[in-house]
Amino acid sequence: MLSNLLMTPGPTYVNEEVRRALSRAVVNPDLDDDFYEFYYKLTKQVAKLLKTRNDALILCGEGILGLEAACASIIEPGDRVLCIDNGIFGRGFGDFVKMYGGEAIYFTGDYRKPIDTYELEEFLKKDSNFKMATIVHCETPSGLLNPVKEICPLLHKYNILTVVDAVSSIAGEDLRVDDWNIDIALGGSQKCLSAPPGLTIVSISEKAWDVMLNRKTPITGFYCNLSLWKRWYQEKWFPYTQPVSDLFALECAVDNAVNDDKKFKRHSQIGNAVREALEKGGFELYPLDGYSNTVTSFLTPEGLDEKKYREHLADNYEVMIAGAFDVLDGKVLRIGHMGENCYADKVYKALKAMDSAFRDFGITPKESLHKTFDQIMNDR
Ligand SMILES: *Cc1c(COP(=O)(O)O)cnc(C)c1O
Repeated sequence: MLSNLLMTPGPTYVNEEVRRALSRAVVNPDLDDDFYEFYYKLTKQVAKLLKTRNDALILCGEGILGLEAACASIIEPGDRVLCIDNGIFGRGFGDFVKMYGGEAIYFTGDYRKPIDTYELEEFLKKDSNFKMATIVHCETPSGLLNPVKEICPLLHKYNILTVVDAVSSIAGEDLRVDDWNIDIALGGSQKCLSAPPGLTIVSISEKAWDVMLNRKTPITGFYCNLSLWKRWYQEKWFPYTQPVSDLFALECAVDNAVNDDKKFKRHSQIGNAVREALEKGGFELYPLDGYSNTVTSFLTPEGLDEKKYREHLADNYEVMIAGAFDVLDGKVLRIGHMGENCYADKVYKALKAMDSAFRDFGITPKESLHKTFDQIMNDR
């Protein structure tokens, strides 16, 4: 099942330039002064991508590491944390909160709709005694985008630290860390950045540093202890040996993303066209509103075994798309159109293969997915 076309919402296709960067000679990251400068410059590029003056770091471990590190570093036993939950990742954030002794209080919304800021405000008027809040920008399993732009300033008004999981939106959807009052923003290498899986990017506000460095109890753990990084540059010291090759590749991918001023427009055009093609084809999108332009999630057609369908698509047409997990297991199919996969030729090929594979299972789309997609892209 080694598919040619990897149309999953992470990992995404890694282009040749980025793969070449992986093969550069390995240096000693602890003893080579130039490496500290390289890493420093990379953090500045990451900060630029996130539109922030806050410190940025790159951690050795895929996106999930950032979620855990934020919880480990901020939460002390008994702290109340608001977990904004309208999807699998939003809910799951609460598990990390509890793991580090926090009390997770869920603000649960409709899983098919973005969080309603007005309802959240009504909730906060009654109870706003939280040390921090967690929120997911793009809920990858459902293809939903939350209005972080409104939510974080609201939480900020109530003096609640904001932690945003933007793993599947960074570089595909606009994220403005400073303008939107995001204390900790989290991203991963393998989504819209289209670098190999393995790294987390994180930005940390002055306020978040302050909370971490002035705890009553010590931080549990080492890898997840962000406070160790506070003076890495001044002291020319890393908590552990840096993954040099992965960082070389990330640098290339981040530069590409920073220099690509059409990326959001491209994601929006492709996202819109994919959704329209699916709807014209008679499929039902999972979100009812607030679609993310990085991934599209639609209901599994009645009677179809989505796992068999995906296997068939990969084995016979060499296209890999995704299903989902947890409460959405078997219920949806997902096309990732993020980063390097967000180009019309790739999406066209994927939809064409999907059209054929649906027919192989006795399902005829009302209108051909790839033809509708092509028409929309050409009409623009
Ligand atoms: C991919 C993703 C993560 C990170 O998961 P990994 O398995 O570590 O890649 C976290 N949050 C969201 C919303 C994601 O899409």
